[in-house]
Amino acid sequence: MVGRKPGIIALFDVDGTLTYPRKAITPKMLEFMQDLRKVVTIGVVGGSDLIKISEQLGNSVISDYDYVFAENGLVAYKNGELIGKQSLKSFLGEEKLKELINFTLHYIADLDIPIKRGTFIEFRSGMLNVSPIGRNCSQEEREDFEKFDEVHKIRSKMVSILREKFKHLNLTFSIGGQISFDVFPQGWDKTYCLQYLEDFPEIHFFGDKTYKGGNDFEIYDSAVTVGHTVISPTDTAEKCKSLFIATKPGDA
Ligand SMILES: [Mg+2]
Repeated sequence: MVGRKPGIIALFDVDGTLTYPRKAITPKMLEFMQDLRKVVTIGVVGGSDLIKISEQLGNSVISDYDYVFAENGLVAYKNGELIGKQSLKSFLGEEKLKELINFTLHYIADLDIPIKRGTFIEFRSGMLNVSPIGRNCSQEEREDFEKFDEVHKIRSKMVSILREKFKHLNLTFSIGGQISFDVFPQGWDKTYCLQYLEDFPEIHFFGDKTYKGGNDFEIYDSAVTVGHTVISPTDTAEKCKSLFIATKPGDA
């Protein structure tokens, strides 16, 4: 492609960065990304699966960007073609996975908390989501549990026990939201996708949750990326214009 700067990739978070939270990309932003693609290689990395990313970025997403990383890169596309697929199941293997699930369910069974509902473990392709109260509690029960947990530290105690018991598996435990925590292998955050970008000496990453504990933090903070914090799609476009498109005085 004529005029593309070699060795540079602009990599984008999806929600809050290319789109407004949980919304679809605007036609204007879509057009901007195609203009940007004439200048640099572009990619997206989202925590959601490809179906969800396509709902936000459009059905032609895998051909609109040079790289598309769904589920933080566990599912990776380059030039519209699948180049990698990884899952918790194939990474840990059924035996270790069963050991982890059994222990977790036993722990929850013995847990004395005011109420329990159903779906204590949700099995996702790249992680387990564990909820001591159960995911199908009502909104009111969810809020009550959050308050109870703030006082009794149910989740943080559980996490420290699981962390110790399964330290040989090198897992990350991440408490988020009101009722649950996520369990996934170390490094399966957004930095996972960087293994596919070793040919780029200059990786610019744009994300809205770049603070510690945010889902963009690790890749933003990574030594191999140049991190940019954005507050909206408009901000993303502005920053890209001044970094990659704006001509300096004197440029012909
Ligand atoms: Mg985001």
